[in-house]
Formats: sequence, C-alpha cells, structure tokens
Amino acid sequence: NKYVTTKNHIDGAPKESDFELQSTILALSVEPGSNDVIVKNLYVSIDPYQLNRMKSYSSSQKAINLSTRHSPGQVIDAYGAGKVVASANPGFEKDDLVVGMIGWEEYSVVRGSSMLKKVAKEFPLSYHVGILGFSGLTAYGGFYNVCKPQKGEKVFVSAASGSVGNLVGQFAKLFGCYVVGCAGSKQKVDLLKDKLGFDDAFNYKEESDLKSALKRYFPNGIDIYFDNVGGEMLEAAVDNMNISGRVAVCGVISEYTGTGRRSAPDMLDVVYKRLTIQGFLAADHMCVYTDFISLTSDHLRHGTIHPLEDISQGIENIPMAFAGLFHGDNIGKKMVQIAED
Ligand code: NDP
Repeated sequence: NKYVTTKNHIDGAPKESDFELQSTILALSVEPGSNDVIVKNLYVSIDPYQLNRMKSYSSSQKAINLSTRHSPGQVIDAYGAGKVVASANPGFEKDDLVVGMIGWEEYSVVRGSSMLKKVAKEFPLSYHVGILGFSGLTAYGGFYNVCKPQKGEKVFVSAASGSVGNLVGQFAKLFGCYVVGCAGSKQKVDLLKDKLGFDDAFNYKEESDLKSALKRYFPNGIDIYFDNVGGEMLEAAVDNMNISGRVAVCGVISEYTGTGRRSAPDMLDVVYKRLTIQGFLAADHMCVYTDFISLTSDHLRHGTIHPLEDISQGIENIPMAFAGLFHGDNIGKKMVQIAED
C-alpha cells in the first residue's frame, strides 16, 4: 500500500522535497465483527488546512488544539472518495462508492463507519470530493449561515477561483447578490467573469494598494466579505465594509506559511461600523447538510452551477499538487486521482 508522508515538520511554504512516498504490506481482507471497511482510494482531496497540521510543535500549538497534529512518517489523513473492497461493517458492501476521511494512500482501512458515507452514482465521483463535498458545505454553510445575506447585498470573495471561493461566488449570484472576486492571475479573473457569472473580478497581484482597489470595485462599500486569505486583504476589506457588514473568516491561507503578514484590521472600524467578524468551520454547519446537497444537486441537474475541478493524476504527484496550492497553481477544487473510477 503506497502512501505519502512528510519527512519532517513543515514550518514555511511546503516543498515537494518535504514529502516522500512509502509503502507497507496491507492485506485486503477484514476481520469479521471488526466493523472495518477497506476502501480503494480513487480521489483524494488536497487542502490548505493540512499544512497547519504538519507544522512543528511550537508553530502549530494553536492549530493542534483544533485538529489532530500530523507526525512525520504517518499517513496523511485526507478527505476523499473511493470504492469499498472489503467490509466487516453491515452498512457497507464490496463495490459501494463512498466519501469520507481516508488518506493520501492507495487503500485506507476505515475503522467504524462514522467517517464514511455511501454516495449514489448520479454525479461523477469527483463531485463528492468538491462541489458536493466539504468544499461545497464550507461555501454553503459559510455564505448562508455566517454571512446571513440579503438579496442585492454586495459581496467580496478572496481566493475566488479556488475550491471554496468559486462556490461562494456562485451561491451568492444565485441568491441575488452583487459579487466581486479577487484571484492571482488574468486567466483566473477571466474565468470568474466569463464562465462563473461574477459581476466583476480583479488580479490582486497587480494592485499596489488593496484598499483603493476595493474602493474602485465597491464605490458604495462591501456588505459581506468572505475571507479565504487573511493578511492585508482582510485589512483592506474591513476598511471598505459598510455599517453592519459581516466578515466570514473561512481561512487565512496567506498566513499559513508564515511568510505573509498577520492581519491586523482597524478595530475602530469594527466598532464604529458595528461589524461582525466570525470564524467558522464547515463541520459547524452539518445542520444545513441536507439543504446544501439538495440545492446544489438541483443546480447541477439544471446546469445552473458550474463544478470547477483541478485534478492531477497519480499518487506520486500529491506533493506537487499540495505545494502548488500555496503558489496559486490550482483553479478550482484541487484533488489527485489515484486510481481509475
Ligand atoms: P483553494 O482552492 O482556494 O486554493 C488555495 C488558493 O489560495 C490558491 O489557488 C491561491 O489562489 C490562493 N493563495 C495561495 N496563497 C495565497 C496568498 N499568500 N495570498 C492570497 N491568496 C493565496 O483552497 P480552498 O478553497 O480549499 O481553501 C480556501 C480557504 O478556505 C483556505 O484558507 C482554507 O484553509 C479555508 N478552508 C476553511 C474551511 C473551514 O472549515 N473553515 C474548510 C475548507 C477550506 P490565487 O491565485 O487567487 O492566489
């Protein structure tokens, strides 16, 4: 069973050389009564948050209070989708398609069923990792529950061509908001405007002053900022928020590698504009899971939402795919296909 692991803790930007491919012998059979399920992994998710788990103790102290820390040498846990090859769990049979917590490995032994869910064959399996998976739930729960939108409100999304960001923008447009996104290349900006229906978009790397850039795109201010990046962009957005504006802090990727500046928004703005700045985790929003799946599936059936996927092939390409997240290499949901469907 081949798997990807880290050689060391990673405290800066991840490099391919921080990872290695290892293998162990794994019997593809289960002990009766054990409740174990063995999954042949087909697609694994590549997510920015995983870096926070790979840091050394001192720099990850805060992150480890919130999620399990990864130790070098261990298999790296990841969300993903696959096919059951053996099951001692009454809820699963051989050949069932499943999604859940597996790992950056060819086969995962999932103990107990709480981390796995069966999926129907209506949509491509990869959709269950992205648009119908955790990224989709993050965008849906964050936008509806945290941002509490009103029709016609002006929404700004950062990392807007990414996995979560593109869906926030699409949900916001479908709901009836005015949406502007920022992303790191012309190709991404064009895609947001021409294919995903954003009202406007800009390349933040070409702006020398983010506060005045946002003033240009939102002359009447921002009502909702969906923050995927933190840092200077969060400060610039707070500067441009309207009274009673809401900032959903989904993630702060510019701060994960330790190379960017930590955000220090102007707190007087927060007070006088009565802003709500709320962090959240997708898992907090399982209460809307059924609504999310039903609305998103309907949009997929009608072609009114666009699944944006970026799929690399082969387990050996996981390190490159992961490192690429922090250079903006991906467009849409980054995942790696490990084996054929
Ligand atoms: P993305 O698909 O958006 O990939 C990351 C993107 O971030 C890159 O493509 C790049 O796009 C952008 N980026 C990378 N480095 C920087 C930087 N220094 N400054 C600005 N932008 C940068 O990833 P996800 O959609 O999976 O995740 C987006 C955010 O949401 C992350 O912060 C992640 O941790 C968070 N998240 C939070 C969850 C939760 O439960 N709260 C769940 C899932 C994700 P570009 O070319 O535009 O720079």
